[in-house]
Amino acid sequence: MHVLEPLIELARGLWTTLQFMLEKPVTVQYPEQKKLVKPRFRGRHVLHRYENGLEKCIGCSLCAAACPADAIFVESSENTDEKRFSPGERYASTYQINMLRCIYCGFCEDACPTEAIVLGDQYELSFTERRQAIYPKEMLIEPVPLGGQPTPQKTEPGKFTRSVPQMKDPQD
Ligand code: SF4
Ligand code: SF4
Repeated sequence: MHVLEPLIELARGLWTTLQFMLEKPVTVQYPEQKKLVKPRFRGRHVLHRYENGLEKCIGCSLCAAACPADAIFVESSENTDEKRFSPGERYASTYQINMLRCIYCGFCEDACPTEAIVLGDQYELSFTERRQAIYPKEMLIEPVPLGGQPTPQKTEPGKFTRSVPQMKDPQD
């Protein structure tokens, strides 16, 4: 071994350290600072509303049927024009997702005929007991949009007869 070899190795090591000292740090000061997720990230579910505040979910249970982890529980009830939650005949009177079972596959999102359930960008999930991992509709539904009304709403008879609004053909 050459006498200068340890010094050369030491200098190489210090040079690597120096290079990283000049780079922008990648550490995020969570939770004060939150990292933006990628556009296709699948986080905690959100139940969406229409612009007028009516709920998109019609309580059809197709999401529950599609779920490979049996994580979704839906119970539906009848809408009336006096007390309307969603367009059409029925709405989800109970909607629960067991977050301990969910594998974030997105099958529920694909199965939904009204695009009500969507896996959003929220990743802050923590529980101290198993019961807290069951998220009810009240936790999943998005807030009423600006200009909309909360549900239940009193609506004009015959105005919201279709459960599934006509959607544009994705092939168009
Ligand atoms: S993301 Fe997958 S596992 Fe989770 S609730 Fe939806 S269908 Fe079930
Ligand atoms: S979220 Fe969609 S698929 Fe699930 S019950 Fe509601 S409307 Fe049906």
